[in-house]
This record gives sequence, structure tokens and C-alpha cells, in this order.
Amino acid sequence: MTDRIDLRSDTVTQPTAAMRAAMAAAPVGDDQYGEDPSTNRLQARCAELLGKEAALWLPTGTLANQVALRTLTRPGDEVVACRESHAAWHELGGAAANAGVQIHEIGQGGRFSADELRAAVKPRNFAIFPTTTLVEVENTHNRAGGVVVPQPEVLRICAVAREMGLATFLDGARLWNASVATGLPLHELAAPFELVAVAFSKGLGAPGGSLLAGPKALIAAADRHRRRMGGAMRQNGIFAAAALHALDHHLDRLAEDHANARVLAEALAAAAPVQLDLATVQTNIVVFHLPAALPLDAPTLSERARERGVLVNAFGARTVRAVTHLDVTRAQCARAAAVLVELLAA
Ligand SMILES: *Cc1c(COP(=O)(O)O)cnc(C)c1O
Repeated sequence: MTDRIDLRSDTVTQPTAAMRAAMAAAPVGDDQYGEDPSTNRLQARCAELLGKEAALWLPTGTLANQVALRTLTRPGDEVVACRESHAAWHELGGAAANAGVQIHEIGQGGRFSADELRAAVKPRNFAIFPTTTLVEVENTHNRAGGVVVPQPEVLRICAVAREMGLATFLDGARLWNASVATGLPLHELAAPFELVAVAFSKGLGAPGGSLLAGPKALIAAADRHRRRMGGAMRQNGIFAAAALHALDHHLDRLAEDHANARVLAEALAAAAPVQLDLATVQTNIVVFHLPAALPLDAPTLSERARERGVLVNAFGARTVRAVTHLDVTRAQCARAAAVLVELLAA
């Protein structure tokens, strides 16, 4: 553990001593009776931060996405989302299994345009087409390397959605990072969307939890789906206290993670024979590709790096992801880059 530099994900962080103390001291109650004061406080605080009427705790971001899709669509509908979005790639087909919808992936590099959305929406009432009822935006976009979706494009996308009668959902598991990277407040990033998901278990460093925010009526519907899917909890305040602590102490420091990701990415781009577009390194994620000519593939690189104490994820056969977080320092990121450069040169 001591010398290990774990860049697999920002989910690997350990709760700090202060966070554990806040958890131990949390007032709790039965959240399914609405009686958990810490969860209620977290939901109210996040509703305000995100500029929405109400908010609902969920144990994971995956469940937040499932509940959002179930709340905003009907089985058989089609959802338009960005290519390689989490809901399409990382949830074991949950969109189909739990919400009964199919996802139409458009765009690339974590982005799509309002025009691409317009072109993707299937004509209504056509005998053979599913009904397109929802557009989802992922900000920041995980598989595209943590890129921030430009807010002017978000505004255009959501305007087209309203014009075409589509609901809007923001998978903002890392919306905190987008806010810190752009300087735009969370409520401004969330404003164009009906439902917004955020996660406490990524860069904020809490041991678990996500949340959906939106209008009261939609959150009430989401609450019923949460219970139906088995995601309603009881003395949840122990988790909520960790999230509240994270909002107080771990939000502003995300800028350090972003700077550390740049350190790692710039060292790799300068010295390793990899494809790495530095323009994509906007937050805490570094995704790079191994050219076909290179004898190493991603799983082999990841295995060799692990032997040297550096953990990164093989994100595809020739795609590698490294993520910075509150448990890795700048010096460790520089050291990890040196190890990767050495392995790639060999
Ligand atoms: C991690 C992540 C999720 C899912 O969160 P879990 O808590 O791991 O289920 C959803 N969306 C995005 C963009 C993510 O990065």
C-alpha cells in the first residue's frame, strides 16, 4: 500500500480521519420515513447547489442513472446519448434491463451538437420507429478523458430537446470537476436539465452515494422507482455525513487533481510513444491510446505498471485510463508518468 500509486479511478480514495469522525457523529434516522436528518440536510443542500426544487439520495451513480431513465421514459423508448456514455458502456445494459429503453449513441470525444441531436431524433408516430423521449448529456465525459461539455452547446442541445418534446437528463457524476474547471457555478451547469445526477464517491472522496435533483414531482416519481429497484436505505446519515463533509472540504481542492492530471499527461505526451490529445486533459482523467505498431497492449502495460507499483486501467485493448484524486500527490503523478514512460520505451 505504502508505495502504491493507484490511478485506476477517483473511486479508490479512503475516507479521511476527519470524514470518518463526521460519519461517526452523524445524527441518523430512518430515511424511508423521511426521518434521517443528515440525508435531509444533504438533499436540501444539493438541491440548492444545483438550483433544483428537490433532491434524492441514491446509493450509486449507476442506480441514479437507472432511476432517471426509468422516471423520464417508458419501456420501448429511445434515449439519445453521447457515444461511449457511462449509461451505454458501463452499466451492464441496465438501461435496457431496468428502464427498458435503447440508447442511440451520437457524437464523439464526449460531445455532440444540437444539430446531431436533431438529426438523431426519430420521427414521431412513424409505424416502425421507437419514440425518442430523452436526451442525456454526460459532463464531464468519462471515457472521452474527463472532457467538459461546453455550456453554449449544452444550452443549444436542451433548446432543441424542448422544441422536439424530449426530456433532458444530465449525468453529472463529475459535474463538480466541470464546475471547478470552468468556474461556472453548479446551478448554471444544471439549469438546462430536468433531472441531474451527481456523485459523492468520485473526486469528492466519500465512500459512497449519488443524488438526483430536479422538480418535486419528478423527484417524487424517482423516489418510488428507487424503492422499487431496492435502492432505498435506512440510517443513511452515516453516508450523507461523509458527503456533507466532502462538500465542505474536498470540492475546491479538485483543482489540484486537475493540475496533477496535466503533470501526468504532459510527461507522457512529451516522452512516450502514445496517442494523447492534451486538449482532452481538462479535469482529472487522462485517457491515452497505444498505437498499433507498439508491441504492448493496454492490459499488458497495466500489468507491468502494477509490478512497479503504478495502477492504471486498461479501458480497452489499446486504451489506458489514469485518474487523479485526493489520495495521490503531484510527486506521485510525476513518478507514475516516469514509470509508464520507461515501460513504453522498453
Ligand atoms: C462512475 C460513474 C457513474 C456510476 O457511478 P457508480 O457509483 O460507480 O455506480 C455514472 N456516470 C458516470 C459518468 C460515472 O463516471
